[in-house]
Amino acid sequence: MKVLKFGGTSVGSAQNMEHVKDIISDGKQKIVVLSAMSGTTNTLVSIANDILNEVPHLAMEKINTLHASYFETIDVLLSDKDLNLDVKEYTNTIFEFLVESTCSEFTITLENKILAQGELLSTYIFNAYLNQEGIRSALLPALDFMKINDAKEPDLGYIQKQFKAVWDATPQADIYITQGFICLDESDNISNLQRGGSDYTATIIGAVIRAEEVQIWTDIDGMHNNDPRYVAHTHPISNLSFDEAAELAYFGAKILHPQTVLPVRKDGIPVRLKNTMDPEAFGTLISGETFENGIKAIAAKDQITAIKIKSGRMLQAHGFLKKVFEVFETHKTSIDMITTSEVAVSLTIDDDSNLENIVAELEQFASIEVDKDQTIVCLVGHSIVNHESTFKLFQILQDVKIRMISYGGSRNNISLLIHSKDKITTLNKLNDYLFELVTL
Ligand code: ASP
Ligand code: MG
Repeated sequence: MKVLKFGGTSVGSAQNMEHVKDIISDGKQKIVVLSAMSGTTNTLVSIANDILNEVPHLAMEKINTLHASYFETIDVLLSDKDLNLDVKEYTNTIFEFLVESTCSEFTITLENKILAQGELLSTYIFNAYLNQEGIRSALLPALDFMKINDAKEPDLGYIQKQFKAVWDATPQADIYITQGFICLDESDNISNLQRGGSDYTATIIGAVIRAEEVQIWTDIDGMHNNDPRYVAHTHPISNLSFDEAAELAYFGAKILHPQTVLPVRKDGIPVRLKNTMDPEAFGTLISGETFENGIKAIAAKDQITAIKIKSGRMLQAHGFLKKVFEVFETHKTSIDMITTSEVAVSLTIDDDSNLENIVAELEQFASIEVDKDQTIVCLVGHSIVNHESTFKLFQILQDVKIRMISYGGSRNNISLLIHSKDKITTLNKLNDYLFELVTL
């Protein structure tokens, strides 16, 4: 069986939901994971912020506008009177909860509950629509089986057991619909898999049921060789290995949630990226196979902080790096890039919520410099560190200042750290040097 995930734009309007129905109606039983309709989660985040900032009237305006737009979608999609009424009643209960929340005290638990409403709405509406169209579909409530543990990792043992129980208790259907993104935490409070987490839901389910394939349907024709928002003439990459896709997703390719390929990599379950607006396009197939060597793609990750840790004697003094790493470990902050010299080590983090404490502790044994607004530009491809055309990448040194380079950490990745203001230049220049065959 296949698991198909449709993103926010794919279910973003009544018309797009019709496209999705056409794509999934091929007579084969499948599991369909849906995101919230596009824009909904952002609005819910902003409603939660209004509650936090104690401006409930602003939250109320957003709630009313959102409520009206859901009713419009429901009216376009559901001509069946009973279904229309049923879905509106369900929608009303969700909006009643949102209205009540505006009088509540802000807590993270409340925020998470607010954020979960988008996926509950989109799946309920879509399920009713399929029923109206005579398609046998059923809802598998994600909150009955999807769970993360205290390390915020999926609790696979629990998910496996509960998924089976929910599946067994659900009447036979052709299309099983479930909510992406949402889950319970270790204390059974509503939580989520972080923004963009519906992709992750799909591969977690894919791993649990040993799916034949997981498909991620979005509004672009696959993973591109460079960031199409900043670079003209990018093109989709047909094939990527799990390792290449994992590096790209982690280091900034927005099309995939960073953890997407992790659950399926071990069992070699392929992940196919497809475009809902152009279903015939090949997209990108991510699998255990490697097709060609050389640089395949470039991605950029913003909001990186670089920390330089300088000490009189570093490398000769054994235990120095251990001491450094322990500080980051204590503050549960993961390090992305690292470079060393005899007198200093530079490293990067993307979560700077504990930066002050980290710096204070490091300052007890070293002098520290912090650079904010950095961007990691990540180049990915099988065996790129040995590839004969990789040298062209270093022409970038004549165009922008490079703060750090990581080469050889793995054979498939080279990363550069630059100031974020140089990002667009860097992506375009690298594109010219590496993909547009500009010669010296
Ligand atoms: N709706 C969630 C978000 O906007 C999850 C997702 O779309 O994957 O982040
Ligand atoms: Mg997404």
